[in-house]
Amino acid sequence: MKPKIYISLAALALVLLITIQFFLISGLYKLRKNEFDTRYGNKVRDALTEMQEQFQTNGLDSALYFIDVQCFDLIGSYEAAFDDSLKKELDRITFNRVQTILAQEEDISLFLYRYLVAAGLDPDFNKGFVIRELQILGQDTAYQIISDDDRSVIEAGLLKKRSGALSVNTYFIEGNFFSIQFEYLIDFLDRTRIILKEMVGAFILALISVIIAGTVFIITIRNMLKQIRLSEMKTDFINNMAHELKTPLTTISIASSTLAGTKKNPDQEKIIGLSELIKDQNKQLSKLIDHILDINLWEKDQIFLKMSEVELAGLIRSRVDAFRVEHADKSFTITEKTSLDDVKLKIDEFQFTIALHNLFSNALKYGGTPSVIQLDAGIEMDHVCIKVKDNGKGIRYDEQQQIFSKFYRGKDVSNRKGLGLGLFYVKEIIELHGGTVEVFSKLGHGSTFVIRLPLNQ
Ligand code: ADP
Repeated sequence: MKPKIYISLAALALVLLITIQFFLISGLYKLRKNEFDTRYGNKVRDALTEMQEQFQTNGLDSALYFIDVQCFDLIGSYEAAFDDSLKKELDRITFNRVQTILAQEEDISLFLYRYLVAAGLDPDFNKGFVIRELQILGQDTAYQIISDDDRSVIEAGLLKKRSGALSVNTYFIEGNFFSIQFEYLIDFLDRTRIILKEMVGAFILALISVIIAGTVFIITIRNMLKQIRLSEMKTDFINNMAHELKTPLTTISIASSTLAGTKKNPDQEKIIGLSELIKDQNKQLSKLIDHILDINLWEKDQIFLKMSEVELAGLIRSRVDAFRVEHADKSFTITEKTSLDDVKLKIDEFQFTIALHNLFSNALKYGGTPSVIQLDAGIEMDHVCIKVKDNGKGIRYDEQQQIFSKFYRGKDVSNRKGLGLGLFYVKEIIELHGGTVEVFSKLGHGSTFVIRLPLNQ
């Protein structure tokens, strides 16, 4: 399967998982809400029954008394109102007064509050009365104040729906001077918080499952992309290696044909020169073959360091001198500044030398013309810090982490030879020593590679 399809399918599976979790949680929330309403609704109804049985009251006695008084007061005004707008104004006044009396004089809420506290339930709620019908009863006439399809009732009904309030009871009451039908509603203030608190376990489990699936997804995709990149880099490596092998082979082939030609006309100097050339190219070939053989050994757990105490300043100086001699035929300068004051570190001298050599070679290979290499070694905090700076083109920011990968070669190496293993090796070796290697570079301003090794190993 193509990687893109694989990634899309995996991402789709993850999205589905998150969607399913979302639906499960919201379904659970609805279930809990219903369960909450049933539990609290039953308790509230129990409370009303108990109030009736124990105290012989529905908790509305004084409220109904005051409503009766008010309605009696208003009968005269209704009888005198022949005008429709006057009647409407009177309706408004009556409605407001009755509602205020209901809210202020009822005893149900206080009883409920105490009952809920005693039952160990959350007692904080808002109450509300939705008057569905109200009539003032005159001597011969009944004045309809509000009827079931009135606007105020509809609005109150909407309010009830929006807040999700619990309808406790509907009352039909006829007093001396009025008749009323109203609903008593309560809305538990902490309902959502209580339900969510009860769902914490489910939330955590859902979150954990999404995090685990997400992490597995990211790791799998990352590994897959890494594998793809590695295989591309391996292909590049094989191509480079083929190219690298061809050069000495061609040189050897030409040199040996020329050597064969000297049979007729032997020229001692020429023969020696050609054999030297063949020897050199042979050395180059065996170096390349060693490289290939080494690659498999370059996995971290397969390298065994042979540690010994080494005086670092001396080692660095001798490596710089050796590098100068080795590349005496090239025009470049290498300067070194060490302030390590007899610092001794336990390192694998052989491997460490190769790591240093790789940094010097790169500085020369990718440096300016002529190449200027500056080496600076000293102590920073509790680390030995070795900086190798060059005057090359620098390394693009997006390449700076990749250059340490196995087989990675820069996009802009032009015809500089290489296998993409030098920096990989430096990183492996330095990390095995408990240290780090970083690059600091800006295009057009050269690059500085920094090795840090802990003093307290
Ligand atoms: P190689 O030199 O064989 O390509 P390395 O692992 O030594 O492999 O380096 C990897 C890549 O990092 C190089 O191909 C090059 O693009 C980049 N690089 C390394 N050192 C430098 C440097 N001093 N200046 C600029 N680019 C560098």
